[in-house]
Amino acid sequence: MDRTQLCGSCDVGSIPTEGTNLKTPMKVIHNKKFHCIDCNKDTWNEYYMLYSKVWKKANPEDKGMLCIDCLETRLGRKLTKKDFTKAIINTIETRRTAKLKNRLSI
Ligand SMILES: [Zn+2]
Repeated sequence: MDRTQLCGSCDVGSIPTEGTNLKTPMKVIHNKKFHCIDCNKDTWNEYYMLYSKVWKKANPEDKGMLCIDCLETRLGRKLTKKDFTKAIINTIETRRTAKLKNRLSI
């Protein structure tokens, strides 16, 4: 077995493969690298891209992932749509928590 482990903090093991006729859902192995470095929550559903000045203010070491709650705690404010880049991950239909949708204003 390699060093990748199934996520123990969420029960999402696969996601449907949208836009294809594949009957077998795409396998997703949750990885510790998707866990928030502050609270260890799986950030699988909170994947986003912020402008680097915002991200580096919250995470000067620029390592790991932060969930929205911990990121906002570090920033001392709520995120707004203007904090998010135009990266495709912020604009395509994808997995998102209600909180992330709220901050993206979608
Ligand atoms: Zn967190």
